[in-house]
Amino acid sequence: MRSQSTLASRPRIAVVGAGFAGLAAARELGRQYAVTVLDASPWFEWLPNIHELLSRVKRPADLRLSHRALMARSGHRFVRATVAAIDAGAGRLVTSGGRSIGFDACIVAVGGVHDAFGVPGADRNAMSFKGVDDCAAIGRRLAQLARRPGRHSVVIVGGGLEGIEALGEILRRFRHGDAFAVNVVEAGARLLPGTPSALDAAIRAHCATHEVRILTHSRVTSVTPGRVRLDTGETLRSDLTMWTGGSAPSPLLQASGLADGPRNWAPVKASLQSRRFDNVFVAGDAAALPRPLGKQAYYATQMGECAAGNVVRALEGRRLRSFSPSRKPMLVAFGDLDTFLVSGGSVVASPALAAAKEAIFQVTMARFDPSFGATAVRKGASRLVRAAEELALPALTVAPGRRRASLPSRPVRAPRGTATGPSVKKAAARRPRHKPAAQP
Ligand SMILES: Cc1cc2nc3c(=O)[nH]c(=O)nc-3n(C[C@H](O)[C@H](O)[C@H](O)COP(=O)(O)OP(=O)(O)OC[C@H]3O[C@@H](n4cnc5c(N)ncnc54)[C@H](O)[C@@H]3O)c2cc1C
Repeated sequence: MRSQSTLASRPRIAVVGAGFAGLAAARELGRQYAVTVLDASPWFEWLPNIHELLSRVKRPADLRLSHRALMARSGHRFVRATVAAIDAGAGRLVTSGGRSIGFDACIVAVGGVHDAFGVPGADRNAMSFKGVDDCAAIGRRLAQLARRPGRHSVVIVGGGLEGIEALGEILRRFRHGDAFAVNVVEAGARLLPGTPSALDAAIRAHCATHEVRILTHSRVTSVTPGRVRLDTGETLRSDLTMWTGGSAPSPLLQASGLADGPRNWAPVKASLQSRRFDNVFVAGDAAALPRPLGKQAYYATQMGECAAGNVVRALEGRRLRSFSPSRKPMLVAFGDLDTFLVSGGSVVASPALAAAKEAIFQVTMARFDPSFGATAVRKGASRLVRAAEELALPALTVAPGRRRASLPSRPVRAPRGTATGPSVKKAAARRPRHKPAAQP
């Protein structure tokens, strides 16, 4: 990489993808650099809360910020385009429209793409759960079905974080009627793989009194209109199939020589510098770190900041710093029935924790918001008031004519001292016992 002193003008930095990692990187870079941020979408989308579009607790506009406005505020150039290839050797990238943009350093933060694992019919017949438009469409389809007589079958493919949070929102919105029976299909042995087993037990306990069937150890083998076939031999009727599991590397990684195969993420050094090219850094979900890390928004944000710092160091010929993630607890929302705070092997549960998750969303969006300042404070205040109405008093969100929702008074019970994990504790005094660190 050329050093700053040898550059005739401001060093050119390209940031490809402006999700959590790309946006965090762009925010770290000062106006002494000619920064071009490229994204295929006009919007930054807050993915960790998109499940709330199913219950209409959130509207699409609540979860989006304009990339152009954000970048204008940072003094960076925004180009709305899909990057088709990065030629690191030539210091140049090309968009799908044929536009060519030169760079001295590039930060690749393209996240992942929807992956239905090649299951026949899944791409055509299952609704994807990857962005705001996807979830808004699922919300509309649920509303459409609910207006029709009879009980409708919903199949959620994937019992991970997205699938469980989606189920929680369906229960929030529809559990007092009899419009839906929901099947959750998970290939693994339990729900929310990778979290303490008590969480699986707590979710199952909540579902026991509702029209929800959980099928673990089950893989989907094909999806047709109205049917989902499983490897157990069972066929599920389905009026709405949603595909929540699966994220694959962007084809851009292989096309640019940043990764070896179509199913590989881009390998990076501890500094997030690409193992293939010194002038490319990879941040967020797209990066394969020397020590694997969960693909989470707050890690993506930390990586974006680190990658930006190291790009500057590299341009100045200084020593690079290693990325050192600060571990944070994870909040898993289950509609208005419960929210779980998972920290290592322990879990704390309370519907009141929803306010913590909402506060993280509000505070971070206000930080990103271009109108941050007096207007943002006003906006933030009204968002919080709305959040308090919607989350602390869920009855306000129940459709007219439906029974009022209420917070459960029954404590969540989980198996005590199971071999694989501790039990879920109820949060004392309806407050988080551990204050979650700001995520992302
Ligand atoms: C439904 C869902 C729920 C989630 N819930 C949580 C949660 O509760 N907590 C949590 O911590 N994490 C959660 N995550 C994970 C979290 O959202 C991701 O880890 C995070 O978004 C990764 O950030 P990123 O910047 O790497 O990628 P992304 O946020 O995916 O951003 C990638 C950006 O790159 C752009 N892009 C992609 N390819 C190109 C290209 N070729 N050219 C130009 N632009 C391109 C995209 O348009 C996008 O804006 C969730 C994810 C999903 C999908």
